[in-house]
Amino acid sequence: MARVFVITGPSGVGKGTLIRGLMERHRELQLSVSATTRAPRPGERDGVDYHFLDREEFERRVDAGEFVEHADYAGRSYGTLRSELEGRVRAGAPVVLEIEVQGARQVRSSVPDAVQVFIAPPSLQALRTRLIGRGTDDPEEVERRLRVAAEELEAQPEFAHVVVNDRLQDALEQLTAVVADELEGRGTTLEAQPGKATTK
Ligand code: 5GP
Repeated sequence: MARVFVITGPSGVGKGTLIRGLMERHRELQLSVSATTRAPRPGERDGVDYHFLDREEFERRVDAGEFVEHADYAGRSYGTLRSELEGRVRAGAPVVLEIEVQGARQVRSSVPDAVQVFIAPPSLQALRTRLIGRGTDDPEEVERRLRVAAEELEAQPEFAHVVVNDRLQDALEQLTAVVADELEGRGTTLEAQPGKATTK
């Protein structure tokens, strides 16, 4: 049975970097390309980093039932297209979704055996420093993302796996261990341990 891995946690926590490291170690993993209504950042490519859609097209696809999950985040819409997920799962490939917390909750209902990992920052202050340091968002957007982050952090206990990204290398080891255990059938699931937050 192909697995679905949901990697969630606040913006700026390092989900993207961790997933890149994870995918180098587990080459069989495939990354689902999300759809969004936000504008591309310099260097981002349509169909590679995101499917960039205007609001009308995004809404049309919502109405047509084309999303597995979708959510509004900091004033923009983001979502996972069924077409990204289902073909890969049918083909037996393990798929990684990099999504925010509301989307992760929706996947929990629609794909209950998905493996959900919450990436947490060592502190909100550390997150602020990273969001400013990566330079992709203007100061207003950084503040908007930090406000959302404070709420997202409260969701941590819902997740079977929590990895604190303090030192990147340690976090990558922990995330890789969770994924390896699941791929080899040794992992635990939220159903088995309701509400238990574990770092393996
Ligand atoms: P960014 O604008 O920084 O690329 O992404 C903002 C937030 O949206 C991040 O937390 C990112 O993980 C999340 N995100 C990206 N794609 C999706 C998606 O398909 N669904 C949901 N729910 N969130 C997403």
